[in-house]
Amino acid sequence: MKQLSALTFDLDDTLWDNRPVLMAAEQTLYDWLCLHYPRIKLRYSLEDMWGLRQELLQQNPELRHDITALRKYSLRIVAQTSAYGDSLVEPAFAVFLNARHRVSLYSDVEPALRRLRSAGYCLGTLTNGNADVGRLGLGHLFDFSLSAASTGKAKPHPRMFEEACRHAHVCAAELAHIGDEPGTDVAGAQNAGVTAIWMNRQGVEADPGIHDHAEVRNMTELLTLLGVN
Ligand SMILES: [Mg+2]
Repeated sequence: MKQLSALTFDLDDTLWDNRPVLMAAEQTLYDWLCLHYPRIKLRYSLEDMWGLRQELLQQNPELRHDITALRKYSLRIVAQTSAYGDSLVEPAFAVFLNARHRVSLYSDVEPALRRLRSAGYCLGTLTNGNADVGRLGLGHLFDFSLSAASTGKAKPHPRMFEEACRHAHVCAAELAHIGDEPGTDVAGAQNAGVTAIWMNRQGVEADPGIHDHAEVRNMTELLTLLGVN
C-alpha cells in the first residue's frame, strides 16, 4: 500500500447504509405521485413501479450506466399508461432525488476522510448511482467525483477508474478504490489495474470468484491498513 497517493470511494453502502434511504425515497415518490396523479395508484403499486424498472433494464441494458435515465423512462411510461402527460416526469424525479439525498453517513466516515486528506491523499468518489456529494455537503472532502452517467460506463468497466487516474494525476498503481460490491467495486478496480479494497461492513462471506484484494470492515480499519494514524 506504500505507493498509493490517491483513493477513490464508492458512495452507496460504503459511506452510508443505502437500503433505508432508497426504500424511503421510493415511498416518498410513490406517495407524491398518488397525491398529484391519482390514476397512477389504480394501475401501479409501489412494487409494480420497481418491476417496471427491472423490465425496462432487461430490455435496455445500456441504461445500467444511467439510472437517472432509467427512472425517468419508467416515469414516462407510468404517466402515459395512466393517461397523464410527460410533464410529471421532471417534478416527480426531483421529488425522488431530493429524498434520495437524505442519507446518514456512517459515523466513521467524516473523521477518516479528514485524516486521509491531512495525510496527503487525493480523494475522489466513483458511483454507479445518482447521489451527489456536493448536494450532501461533502464536496469539500473530495478532490473529484465521477459517476457512471458522467463517464458513460458503469463499474466494473475500467473507464471510471481510468478517469479517476486522470483526475488525480496518478497511474493505476498509485490508486486504490474502496467499495462494498465485489462484482463492481473490487472486480472493476482489478480490471483497471487499481488496488481493490473491499469495504465489508456487514462481515459477509467473500465471493469465491473475487480474490487478490484487501478487506476492511470500517474506516478505522482502512486507516490502519494504509498506515494513517
Ligand atoms: Mg455501493
